Amino acid sequence: MMNMKEIKKNEIRVRFAPSPTGYLHIGSARTALFNWLYAKKNNGKFIIRIEDTDRARHIEEAVRPILDSLRWLGIDWDEGPDIGGSYGPYRQSGRVETYKKYAQELIDNKKAYICFCSPEELQARKKTAEDQGLSFKYDRRCLSLTPEEIEEKIKDKQPFAVRLLIPDNEVIEFGDRVYGNISVSSDTIEDYVILRSSGLPTYNFSAAVDDMLMKITQVIRGEDHLSNTPKQILIYRALGAEPPVFTHLPMILGSDGQKLSKRHGAVSVESYRNEGFLPEAIINYIALLGWSYDDKSTIFSTGELVDRFSLENINKKKARFDYQKLLWMNATYIRKTSDRKLEEMLIGLIEKHIDKKKIQRNNLDIEKTVKMITPLIKERIKTINESLDWVMPFFTEVEYSKDMVGYFDKKLIDAPAVLSNIVSSITLLKDNFDSYRIENSLRKVSEEMDISFRKLAEVLRIALWANKVSPPLFHTMQILGYQTSINRINKYLKLIENR
Ligand code: GLU
Repeated sequence: MMNMKEIKKNEIRVRFAPSPTGYLHIGSARTALFNWLYAKKNNGKFIIRIEDTDRARHIEEAVRPILDSLRWLGIDWDEGPDIGGSYGPYRQSGRVETYKKYAQELIDNKKAYICFCSPEELQARKKTAEDQGLSFKYDRRCLSLTPEEIEEKIKDKQPFAVRLLIPDNEVIEFGDRVYGNISVSSDTIEDYVILRSSGLPTYNFSAAVDDMLMKITQVIRGEDHLSNTPKQILIYRALGAEPPVFTHLPMILGSDGQKLSKRHGAVSVESYRNEGFLPEAIINYIALLGWSYDDKSTIFSTGELVDRFSLENINKKKARFDYQKLLWMNATYIRKTSDRKLEEMLIGLIEKHIDKKKIQRNNLDIEKTVKMITPLIKERIKTINESLDWVMPFFTEVEYSKDMVGYFDKKLIDAPAVLSNIVSSITLLKDNFDSYRIENSLRKVSEEMDISFRKLAEVLRIALWANKVSPPLFHTMQILGYQTSINRINKYLKLIENR
């Protein structure tokens, strides 16, 4: 493939260059991950650069969540805005003088020129062209200004931009690692603005200048930037520098086949974090958005991804974001997590959600209880937050909805009798309230009443949990303890009797 210079492994330098949007989009996280995996695999350097020349204010707040999300995912960097490095600063807002210097160099070498055309004038000319059915390309009006005219206008304080002088009739060819050889005629590109009248650079200019100065060897980014690549290559050419090798990653689509966006639900890494997803699951899942190792393997630890990752295995086909698959993967990772670690996560979550006064009423020690609950729910939850439904009723009072109170009205079962018998039976266990004895005692009730155990369990479950689903019943009762179990059964009994 053309333009694929050999890059020595330890010289590999790749970068993730987010704009400060205030959150890390799942697609950007995938771009960051692929760059990071590539750097790790090849002993290269991974760099973060913030492209913030559009947004002068509140940058800090817009950058921090991006870096936090990356760290949470376990992605680290060798150079970046927070840690610096030999090619800083790593925020474009701190590099404005550099862009001006390179724009001036291009002007001096007749590769760029000053343009005084105002946006209104350009708009009017564009409209005229379009009215005649022509497409508008900047007509190089300002290219013919004499040095004296330019000086005069500058003295007059007329605002100006700087445009790149695109060479006529040139072919821009480059080999993209995913999309293959691409060839574009320079005639299709207008003399685009590289420096705005505000003195700030446009994206294509600052990105190319920075990639050059930061000695980036490979640019790995979203397919939406494929059309920017020829424009950036022209900057390299104008500055006499060698462009990096490009790899564009296939677009990520939502369930309806449209580009993944907020319309499809949560798109930020932070929101998945808040919903109770594990970073390893997210990493594994997004690694498969456009990359595959073989036809069958889906579960990869981060270490395995580093070992197996290669740009050759990225495919062109658009990737589809499948929330159900991500959920399944998260459940898989929850099961792989040690009980100790899960307990820590559950305790953090419970403490965040609990109303302290209510805990005292149930009088359960959070840590001890979570230790008992964790093995019971580990197989049942798909996100950490789902565990709230399973664990909170241990600590807080349960509230019976109307549906739950009337639940047995139309069923052929005498729920009050079942509950009364259960109470009499388990009262005998007061001092030995363990799951084994509870089970025996409940089975006896079902035999004596001649009702199926399934039916008895249904009644008891709603009484204890105010819900048709609960963690395994006998253990649940043991953890709740004798008194709370009896209290709940009696409370429900009263509710259904007194209607
Ligand atoms: N700031 C650009 C973006 O967020 C970076 C594109 C690139 O990697 O060159 O899309």
